[in-house]
Amino acid sequence: MKGLVFSIKKYAIHDGPGIRITVFMKGCPLDCWWCHNPEGKQTGIRMVERIDRVGDREFRSLEQVGHEYTPEEILAKAESDRVFMEHSGGGVTFSGGEPLMQPEFLRETLTLLKNSGFHTTVDTSGHVRPEVLKSVIPFTDLFLYDIKHTDPEVHRRFTGAGNELILSNLDMLLAGGSDVMIRIPVIPGVSADILYMKQLAGFIGSRNNGHIREINLLPYHKTGSSKYRRFGMEDRMASADQVSNGHLDDYIEILKPLGIHVKKGG
Ligand code: SF4
Repeated sequence: MKGLVFSIKKYAIHDGPGIRITVFMKGCPLDCWWCHNPEGKQTGIRMVERIDRVGDREFRSLEQVGHEYTPEEILAKAESDRVFMEHSGGGVTFSGGEPLMQPEFLRETLTLLKNSGFHTTVDTSGHVRPEVLKSVIPFTDLFLYDIKHTDPEVHRRFTGAGNELILSNLDMLLAGGSDVMIRIPVIPGVSADILYMKQLAGFIGSRNNGHIREINLLPYHKTGSSKYRRFGMEDRMASADQVSNGHLDDYIEILKPLGIHVKKGG
């Protein structure tokens, strides 16, 4: 069995969960306007042009986006960094794209990692069948879970799907005692708004059963723009501004009374 991955990166998160290997998997059921990993939305392997610049010279080549890995190969990568991960309290994260679009590969890899003593995290959009999500719970220490918008129509407009499944899956995880880190994309014209943040604070507060470990505010940024050009995709956020630090501080103040650690980025 093989999984299709577009990148594997190592991160050192100093104010968070240590040194982590993140496996970015291809394919996603949503189509968020602000996605900064558009290569993760696409399924299949693609060849795209790569341009390297040295001084005023340009070198063009073709780069393969998407590589297949077996669960054992992912485990071997984790093993090569075991000592760093153990000393820093880190582990392995699956992100994307939507890792649960490749459920058999994900389940088998998580099982191998858990049986080998690694901390495991799944970063999910939550837009997956409940039975698929349930099937990875026993092998997942932490879920990173996006709430893109609580209003189903706004959600549908900016992601291509309603939020009903996502919110009911979140309730299922929390009711079952899974640890969840809630991630809030802070998007101009969508969720970067004082009134919305107050409503969101109420929504999260009504579900706060002690298993919401942290809230991450993820401000919209332009790092994905060049990728849209490179992959020949439309950038629907081209005219949007970045979110100011001052506004993020205001949103943090609104969420703080929940008693859950809130931070910028994640
Ligand atoms: S769920 Fe994540 S990966 Fe999928 S389109 Fe939205 S931002 Fe991109």
